Amino acid sequence: MSVNKQFVNGAWIEAVDQLEIPLIDPATEEVITQISFGNEKDAVLAIDAAEAAFKTWSKTTPYYRAEILKKAANYLRENLDTIAHDMVLESGKPLLEARGEWTVAANLFEWYAEEGKRAYGRVIPTNRIDKRSSVILQPMGVIGIITAWNFPAYNPARAWAAALAAGCTVVAKPSENTPLSAYHLMRALISAGLPPGVLNLLIADAAPVGEAMLNDKRLKKISFTGSTRVGKILMDGASRTNTKLSLELGGNAPVIIFDDVDVDEIAKVASIARFRNNGQVCVAPQRFYIHKNKYEQFAEAIAKYVSLLKVGSGFEEGVNVGPLITGRQRDSVFELLSKSKAENASLLTGGHRPEHLHKGYFIQPAVVANLDQTSTLARNEIFGPVLPVFSFEDMDDALAKANDTEYGLAAYAFTNNLKTAIKVSEGLEFGIVGINEWAPHGTELPFGGWKSSGNGHESGSEGLYEYIEKKLISIGGIW
Ligand code: ADP
Repeated sequence: MSVNKQFVNGAWIEAVDQLEIPLIDPATEEVITQISFGNEKDAVLAIDAAEAAFKTWSKTTPYYRAEILKKAANYLRENLDTIAHDMVLESGKPLLEARGEWTVAANLFEWYAEEGKRAYGRVIPTNRIDKRSSVILQPMGVIGIITAWNFPAYNPARAWAAALAAGCTVVAKPSENTPLSAYHLMRALISAGLPPGVLNLLIADAAPVGEAMLNDKRLKKISFTGSTRVGKILMDGASRTNTKLSLELGGNAPVIIFDDVDVDEIAKVASIARFRNNGQVCVAPQRFYIHKNKYEQFAEAIAKYVSLLKVGSGFEEGVNVGPLITGRQRDSVFELLSKSKAENASLLTGGHRPEHLHKGYFIQPAVVANLDQTSTLARNEIFGPVLPVFSFEDMDDALAKANDTEYGLAAYAFTNNLKTAIKVSEGLEFGIVGINEWAPHGTELPFGGWKSSGNGHESGSEGLYEYIEKKLISIGGIW
């Protein structure tokens, strides 16, 4: 069994056109291996297989599906060392982060194994004695799942587990930048006894595969995690065959720090939270708004802590920040920084290639000040190791600035005042709000964005219902 092929209808096979692309290690810029690279022809084969498998998989009980998902979770736990190693190799993230992510991926399989058993319908009393009405829940059908590279295990696991638990079959297209993690997830499901065709894995050319999914009326929904740019392409195409969409798109999270907190303590933790996965996180805290009384103190503290972060290979002990995923991603961050310099922003630390690293897509973590709402770093999702600081006057000013973005995924606020916490959390126009915490997400919690950040939810029970259709059954003429 090769790990570098496509997995369709229960078998590892070559891509139809037998194309390959190199997989690059972002820390060394060296080729890790060649991987099979499919296209729309492979997508059609995968949809054929998923369509055929749906007929039987959708009729299995949630208890049967749960056994497979739980075995897959255990496989991931048992193989943690190997799979974490491969994730670091292809993504560059620090080993500890990779291990943590795989643990969450395993937990997602287990959580959805159980939640699938709780997809209850409803019996609804009607206004007529001769009628009985109930709502039953049924799996939606074949689902296309397209995911991004920033969380090579968590992104696919979250959607795959929910769709499979719901009784759907899947055509999965994870990012071509992180196929090794996707192969491991696939192997976990194979070793757990997943029947042929239930989940098909394509490492493939994204745009033609996306088109093939949108053009095929047998594929009922696309679940997509990635950029708002690609999300809009999918929205444009979705009317063709009425493809439903669940979209987890970009973010530009504000962090509001009021003047009643210990800003030094917050700066210390923020220097880790902002740079988790090198800032390549859709819920990453990005725009730091500090009350004007504490702005100078925070700016000085955060620059100090950020300058202490250790940059290097994810395999190196004590490294906080690895490389960015690709040269293109690194260049896009450099471009934002150079636009920002042209706008007279002040770089308090970092923003350049680290002196000790001559290869790899590294950037020394940066803190940037002297910015306003019109600046490049306020308007754009950075997706990289840059922390911009802004100031605000009062609650109204903070909310106006925080909400002044096309995005609406995550927001954060820090205060010790209960009234302030309630007012700020209710005033933020975002799908996820963290108060006095940096990780407002979990397997059991709904994760979803407002505005241009997406449609629908992942994780939690909401994530399961994304893959389920409701059906009203009304029986008349009983008396
Ligand atoms: P990023 O820029 O963060 O990589 P993308 O939105 O480009 O995010 O990629 C997320 C996922 O979407 C990846 O699996 C990628 O291959 C895929 N993708 C990219 N372009 C398209 C497209 N036109 N149609 C469908 N999927 C796409």
